[in-house]
Amino acid sequence: MKYYSLNHNAPKVSFKEAVIQGLATDKGLYFPKTITPLPQDFFDNIENLSNEEIAFHAIQQFVGDEIPTAILKEIIDETLCFDFPLVEVEKGIYSLELFHGPTMAFKDVGARFMSRCLAYFNKDKKDSKNTVLVATSGDTGGAVASGFLGVAGVEVVILYPSGKVSDIQEKQLTTLGQNIKALEVDGVFDDCQDMVKKAFLDESLKHKNLTSANSINIARWLPQMFYFFFAYKALKKQNKELVFSCPSGNFGNICAGIIAKKLGLPIVHFVASTNVNDTVPRFLENGIYDPKPSIATISNAMDVGNPSNFIRIQEMYQNDLEQFKNDFSSYTFTDEETKIAMKAIFEIDSYIAEPHGAVGYLGLKKEMKNYPNAIGIFLETAHPIKFFDVVEPILKVKLPIPAQIESVMHKEKVSTKVSTYEDLKAFLES
Ligand SMILES: *Cc1c(COP(=O)(O)O)cnc(C)c1O
Repeated sequence: MKYYSLNHNAPKVSFKEAVIQGLATDKGLYFPKTITPLPQDFFDNIENLSNEEIAFHAIQQFVGDEIPTAILKEIIDETLCFDFPLVEVEKGIYSLELFHGPTMAFKDVGARFMSRCLAYFNKDKKDSKNTVLVATSGDTGGAVASGFLGVAGVEVVILYPSGKVSDIQEKQLTTLGQNIKALEVDGVFDDCQDMVKKAFLDESLKHKNLTSANSINIARWLPQMFYFFFAYKALKKQNKELVFSCPSGNFGNICAGIIAKKLGLPIVHFVASTNVNDTVPRFLENGIYDPKPSIATISNAMDVGNPSNFIRIQEMYQNDLEQFKNDFSSYTFTDEETKIAMKAIFEIDSYIAEPHGAVGYLGLKKEMKNYPNAIGIFLETAHPIKFFDVVEPILKVKLPIPAQIESVMHKEKVSTKVSTYEDLKAFLES
């Protein structure tokens, strides 16, 4: 499979090159040259396939022959080492729980897939390494640290804003050791992000083979389409239309869902639910794409002012605004509305949703008025424990600590403090 840059000013590359580079040389995001719908008998027989088989059929054309079939299947097996339960929260409203992986956020899927692809592509390079450089506001760091731990030929450097991530998140990214290094930045998330971008542009760091593990990287982004297929498999026998709502920040998840639809998955409508970082909802209102600096909210993994994957969604709809609005809505919700929803879901449905899932729920409920006979699914993107400091006081509950989290809580934090780009560069060169 060939990938082209959405800035249209860089050579087309293979899957391998796109994964290793992350971003094209013209700073554009990579996009697959073709998306070929899967054959009808795949959908007719999907209930007889395992998750691993479904994932293999879904992703194979995007990898092509660049990873041998047997190895691609192994990578998928290791990626999908946990369950994706669908819980009926209210009649016809389901929570698709994506948080049963090692770091309890959906990003585990993409991080595990990408790390193993990179390891395969590096297998013969004995003396050169790839360095994955990633800025995190919380969840990405933990998933990348866990997903890449012990992967040969790959060094991981995670930048996080000092004092701005939760204790659990900090432990998840600072305690693993081995090939994972954590840099504690004296600043906010945007400062981390700026340093990372600067490093990617820095010619003098070329020999470090820097790549990104954010959803701009196709190997982190594309596997996120798997769970839309899993939900379809579970709900198919009800024979109803499906509406999906994704709590959205960088819009990687929802964009992967739209790829699944392009592959033939019968999804009637997508809702991108956001917190008050409402660049996309405003765009759908007035047709003007006007990114703003991000605003801090209780659903902090979605505090994104300029969603990097939205350009991929636009590419899929070209200029067909009518079709786009037919398939896609986007709604914004305040923290106050999110808290009220969390309480209602808990008190009426006896379900604990964390703030991101609750934003997804709100957008879904709003859209379901237009699809009264459909089934609605919201993605629950993290385990409530990851946001216990928000969830516990709102719901007045004490959450038990799951084993995955317990195991890191007692480990010792190891991080290096940095405050300037020069500090980062010195660290990378040391
Ligand atoms: C990253 C994240 C999101 C946003 O996903 P995007 O693909 O960036 O839109 C939502 N919820 C949680 C818990 C996350 O960690």
